[in-house]
Amino acid sequence: MRKSVKPELLAPAGNMEKLRMALLYGADAVYLGGKILGLRAFAGNFSPDEMKEAVRFAHGMHKKVYVTVNIFAHNEDLTALPDYLRSLQEIGVDALLISDLGIWSIARNVIPDMPLHVSTQANTTNWAGVKAWEQLGASRVVLARELSFAEMREIGDRTEVELEAFVHGAMCISYSGRCWLSSYLTGRDGNRGACAQVCRWEFGLTEQKRPGEQFDVAEDERGTYIMNSKDLCLLPYLPELMKAGICSFKIEGRMKSAHYAASVASVYRRAIDACWDAPDAFAVKQEWLDELEKVSHRPYTTGFALGKPDAAAQVYTTSAYLQTHDFVGLVRGWQEGRLTVEQRNHMKAGEELEVFLPDGSLRSLILQDMRDGEGNCIDCAPHAQQVFTCRAEEEIPASAILRRKAV
Ligand code: SF4
Repeated sequence: MRKSVKPELLAPAGNMEKLRMALLYGADAVYLGGKILGLRAFAGNFSPDEMKEAVRFAHGMHKKVYVTVNIFAHNEDLTALPDYLRSLQEIGVDALLISDLGIWSIARNVIPDMPLHVSTQANTTNWAGVKAWEQLGASRVVLARELSFAEMREIGDRTEVELEAFVHGAMCISYSGRCWLSSYLTGRDGNRGACAQVCRWEFGLTEQKRPGEQFDVAEDERGTYIMNSKDLCLLPYLPELMKAGICSFKIEGRMKSAHYAASVASVYRRAIDACWDAPDAFAVKQEWLDELEKVSHRPYTTGFALGKPDAAAQVYTTSAYLQTHDFVGLVRGWQEGRLTVEQRNHMKAGEELEVFLPDGSLRSLILQDMRDGEGNCIDCAPHAQQVFTCRAEEEIPASAILRRKAV
């Protein structure tokens, strides 16, 4: 019988800013990748110094940092691995996510005290697999996304080890990145966490002797979106996940924006708290759904949770993202009736913005008396990421998000 524990909310951290926002807006833990060894070759992952800062920041809030070491490793990846693993232990990260059995066995020998989590890229889809990992010393298994609640519940009933499951974010048609499309066409490897979601592109057909002449590959007049899954959203099903014994609810999306990290973490924080306090009375609030519509996403689906997805889990009309609001600025501080703002998207004096606070509440702000760093009056901030001040009678905390309705 599993002990009932309040599930952890685990958020993606693609860089230091996203890490801060996810934790400030309610995540209990974050997962991130390192740059060493080329395990995460693309920009936005953490250098050793950044990882130290990440751990310092998270531990200062009594929260956790997990590091992904979950590539499909080749021989050449193993040479530098022991030193890398020791450095992660010295930095004080809380656990490693691993999918490759070779990396697992080296980690067990080199850093035997480090908690090891089995990454979703190991594609664990049954209780026997979970037990096998448990016998190999796993402290947690991240279940494959391709499982129903009934399957999760049976796994929960028949095993003891901690179970983690994805609750929100993009779905992959190829079992969590087991696909070469992105690597082949963009050099960004889905097996190394850098997928460019190439499967959703609109492809055409050209004939060798007619270069430049493109023929549409189309199911209908709109095109072909045969591998264009909707995004996972299990918000209404948190009680089912808790009953299945899932102890960590994971949000996908290290490549998403700081706004996304904050917003999704905030919604699930409030929902997990409500569900834990009164599971039988749990009901999704409209304000949570509204919040999830504000950030960049595709239409939502329950994925495999209610059974095998059918055609309704795919989008056949477009591969574009939806969002009802644009992230335009980040509050850096407030003093004596003036707000310091870092611009993220064009803003101009007089416009009304929505302020989204770390406690999940909303306010409105009319941009008045905008001034640049030298104190000159400005109508708008001409440069991306320019810092300016504006009037705000009421205090607004640092890290509040400014956004406006998308047109
Ligand atoms: S290109 Fe598509 S199917 Fe391939 S790994 Fe990326 S999301 Fe998955």
